[in-house]
Amino acid sequence: MRQFQKQTKKKEAKNTSLVKKWVSLVALTITVSFLVFSVIIYSIVSQQFLNQERQVAETVVENFEHRLNSINKELQISNVVPALSPTTQRILNGGPTISAADNNTSSTENGFSDDILQNLTNQDISVVIFDKSGDIVFSNGKNQADFVTDITHKEEQLKLYLGKQSLTIYQPIRSASSHKIIGYIAVTDDMSSFNSMMEKVRAWMIGISIVATIIFILISYFIIRGIVWPLNAMSKVARQINKDPNSDVRIPDLKRDDELGELAKSFDQMLDRVQGYIQQQKQFVGDVSHELRTPVAVIEGHLSLLERWGKNDPKILDESIDASLQEAERMKHLIQEMLDLTRAEQIDIQYPNEVTNVSEVLTRVVSDLQLVHKDFTLRLNDDLNEDTMIQMYHSHFEQLLIILIDNAIKYSTNRNEVIISSSVEDGEAVVSVQDFGEGISESEKSKIFNRFYRVDKARTREKGGNGLGLSIAQKLTQSYHGQISVDSVLGSGSNFILRFPVLSKKEVKQLNKKKEKAQRGK
Ligand code: ADP
Repeated sequence: MRQFQKQTKKKEAKNTSLVKKWVSLVALTITVSFLVFSVIIYSIVSQQFLNQERQVAETVVENFEHRLNSINKELQISNVVPALSPTTQRILNGGPTISAADNNTSSTENGFSDDILQNLTNQDISVVIFDKSGDIVFSNGKNQADFVTDITHKEEQLKLYLGKQSLTIYQPIRSASSHKIIGYIAVTDDMSSFNSMMEKVRAWMIGISIVATIIFILISYFIIRGIVWPLNAMSKVARQINKDPNSDVRIPDLKRDDELGELAKSFDQMLDRVQGYIQQQKQFVGDVSHELRTPVAVIEGHLSLLERWGKNDPKILDESIDASLQEAERMKHLIQEMLDLTRAEQIDIQYPNEVTNVSEVLTRVVSDLQLVHKDFTLRLNDDLNEDTMIQMYHSHFEQLLIILIDNAIKYSTNRNEVIISSSVEDGEAVVSVQDFGEGISESEKSKIFNRFYRVDKARTREKGGNGLGLSIAQKLTQSYHGQISVDSVLGSGSNFILRFPVLSKKEVKQLNKKKEKAQRGK
């Protein structure tokens, strides 16, 4: 017992870990997805802005190169500064000093006359010009780039320092006339707007990722918990049934219209069915041993009589053999009926899509039985349309009719007549089997459908009855969602009435289709 409880606890722990596992998996998937998504977006945005910054730096390089390539000699302070600043040149040449007019002689008048240094308004850009040997001949005094030797073409360096990026473009400056390298230029862009923008993008992405992950974890936790609790309820019921197979515990109504609700219902139905089978099995074994006891005892009695002295008396011998054979026959009949009863309880699984034409079967069964019971009048009053169909396997409908008509004949007294009528009432096919025999008292009426119930045991046994016919008839009727009832007056006769829902043409078609499909699937 203790071990069982331990196991139960272990199982519950497993279920909890299922929630944990699922939530962790969802969290991991979402985090990784957001991470990948963020990295992709971040690199696209950063590449876009970097290109813009690169263009700015390149324009500065081009402008400076344009100014400086007119110099034929190696770059020196003396030729670089005047080239970059025509105002300075003018002052060196003995012209007027800087005046307000200098600002007005803007690029609109003459692109060459403007002061390139004045135009260098971007605070992030710093320019360094080196001579051929790497000495600085000009710098706008901000971030000074290191000299890089042996460059023949434009080169780019991206540096990351304290989480901030900067871009430096190096380019040799060639004289426009000689095409020889006369110096080098290094333009550095500190990219402060880029860095602050990317910092914001990073912060937003991390923030959004964290919030989204938390939201998704919470949502998935509630969804998964919603999925797991019905499973827990099912496993609890399964454990209780495992402990006590006869327990009538069931999964409570989950009040959900989804697969889990469906599973819970099927689970309960399965339990009902399995427990029903177990019960049937038990009852079957009990009934068999009880009902077979009498014929076995009779046969045993005859055999011991023969063993003791009867075998020497030809008359006793004949009688005993006859009686034993009769009992054996009865046993055979009894076993067959008990098997029929057991099968009648499993019908909906075996024949779910069968349809039967009521009139056709009625006519056939009545004429067959009329042949066997020539001394009886079996009258058929059939008020049904030719195509009145019910959902039932035709052999079972035949079996039902045979049980009722056989009983009517068996329990008839003076009047050898049985009336079989059929009609449709309120969408139901109604079939009745009426006899004018011994009838059934009010108190017996409710009992005659019980297994092995016989009103008069000795007399019924005489007539070969086992008390199973009506049980089989009732099980068959119920299995096909029909009803069986009896009207009877003791001494005057009985009327057994069957009711089955009539199928519409559409339903018949659907059932036939289903049947074909099922057959093809086999
Ligand atoms: P059995 O094989 O003994 O006929 P049934 O289950 O068919 O078993 O019937 C149960 C009992 O109901 C019978 O033993 C009989 O007493 C009573 N019974 C059944 N049909 C009729 C009938 N048509 N008229 C009178 N009694 C009936």
